[in-house]
Amino acid sequence: MMKVYLDNAATTALSPKALDSMMPYLTEIHGNPSSFHAFGRTAKSAVEKAREQVAAAIGALPEEIFFTGGGTESDNTVIMGTAARLRDKGNHIITTAVEHHAVLHACEELEKRGFEVTYLPVDEFGMVTAHQVEEAITDKTILVTVMFANNEVGTIMPITEIGEVCKNRGVYFHTDAVQAVGHVPVDVKAMNIDMLSMSAHKFHGPKGVGALYIRKGIRIPSLIVGGAQEKNRRAGTENVAGIVGMGAAIEEAVLNMEENTQKMLTLRDRLMNSIEARIDGVKLNGHRTDRLPNNVNYSIRYIEGEGILLHLDLNGVAASSGSACTSGSLDPSHVLLAMGLPHEVAHGSVRLTLSENTTQEEIDYTVDVLEKAVKTLRAMSPLYNK
Ligand SMILES: *Cc1c(COP(=O)(O)O)cnc(C)c1O
Repeated sequence: MMKVYLDNAATTALSPKALDSMMPYLTEIHGNPSSFHAFGRTAKSAVEKAREQVAAAIGALPEEIFFTGGGTESDNTVIMGTAARLRDKGNHIITTAVEHHAVLHACEELEKRGFEVTYLPVDEFGMVTAHQVEEAITDKTILVTVMFANNEVGTIMPITEIGEVCKNRGVYFHTDAVQAVGHVPVDVKAMNIDMLSMSAHKFHGPKGVGALYIRKGIRIPSLIVGGAQEKNRRAGTENVAGIVGMGAAIEEAVLNMEENTQKMLTLRDRLMNSIEARIDGVKLNGHRTDRLPNNVNYSIRYIEGEGILLHLDLNGVAASSGSACTSGSLDPSHVLLAMGLPHEVAHGSVRLTLSENTTQEEIDYTVDVLEKAVKTLRAMSPLYNK
């Protein structure tokens, strides 16, 4: 049986280059970057090299990059930190209905503490417009946080335009770019981004390490307090090996981005064309063109997403019905519901996310398995009219 991993939006495999770069820092080079001696200085210079690699990948300055424990922590730091810092200026935050839970749950927490949050509705493709953001800004607004690309349906938001609106209105603009960095071009200056979250394990780096870009001049308090690491923006001894691996992974991802994108687009289109040709009653979720090159998400009428995933898994294909964080619950995806899908259609959805290592053979095998699974499940479904 073939083993096919099509859940790269949940996490990616560590790249061999990233692993190689990490090995010395997991073995002989064990110094603490805060230590003054040679062991410490060696570790410190490795962290600083990674900072330069991350900064270069998004058009930032090295001193604008702060390492964290991942995408969730970066999101939480921005939302909680901005709220704490600007409480006297205002209590209003703008976000969207389709954010990752790392953003949504942080916003919900702030609501409990007296903040007001606007959750902008999205259109049928999962998109918000800069105009919607502009209309929602009041003199109490302290932060706009809109994701760069959606983790479930792959829709890419009009980030540059939203950034421009925020800049003109003097409101901080943060984007959760965890799905975008290393996959599509990101330039924080050209895109008017004030703060940006990213996570290494979404671009073939290690898990448990991420970064936050904070534009020079913006001061927000650290979520985690303690030592003075990361210029007081994130306390705790640095995850040196993880940070080094992140730097190597992002450099590799950006260097190969064009080639990887072309590879994935070819296979993604083959996957989409085959699904649409061979399975009736399918609907593509997300935008057909303003979309991450590795994301395929379909609703398949008259079946349950969970049933499909089980069939795929039994045949060696790893897929997802939404975000990894919501699978395990039977609630339909908040993203698909926000896009206006009825409950029963949202329930029957499957997400297949490719990497540059995905092969044509794997894609063809997956379509075979998917077609059979749909046939089997529909044969048992009282709703499907044969
Ligand atoms: C994966 C993901 C996160 C969380 O990142 P972690 O590093 O796993 O904490 C946040 N936002 C989006 C859009 C993601 O896809």
